[in-house]
Amino acid sequence: MHILKEKKLKSTMPRREIVAVFEKGHRLLNAEDIFNKVKKKGIDLATVYRTLQSFEKHHIIKKVDVRLPAEHYELADHHHHHVVCTSCGEIESFEHCSMDAASKKVLGSSKKFASIQDHAFEFFGLCHPCARMKVRKGL
Ligand SMILES: [Zn+2]
Ligand SMILES: [Zn+2]
Repeated sequence: MHILKEKKLKSTMPRREIVAVFEKGHRLLNAEDIFNKVKKKGIDLATVYRTLQSFEKHHIIKKVDVRLPAEHYELADHHHHHVVCTSCGEIESFEHCSMDAASKKVLGSSKKFASIQDHAFEFFGLCHPCARMKVRKGL
């Protein structure tokens, strides 16, 4: 398992399985989503939580704030942004990133900061089914 080796983490069965879930999905996942995919391998929810914490500490995954009740994570190596439905929580990723120019502007006008290493940027809106439902209900 390349990523575990690269991060010098012991390659255990639960770690391998959970990395595989992230690599297969290419989407935001919470502990429950992952648990549902690995429970048939005998991995319990506590192990999922523990593994997520360890992965986050080693920068294999990162937390993304999508304003949903559960913490959501994605692989840290794949830079992208999200659109989140504020009604049902549907999430779509998009690759487009225009933050480089914005970072330079922010830095140019900042008196306190010497560099910018990272950014978080998500859109919030309504997915098609939720938008149609609002129209039907006359909201
Ligand atoms: Zn929706
Ligand atoms: Zn970006």
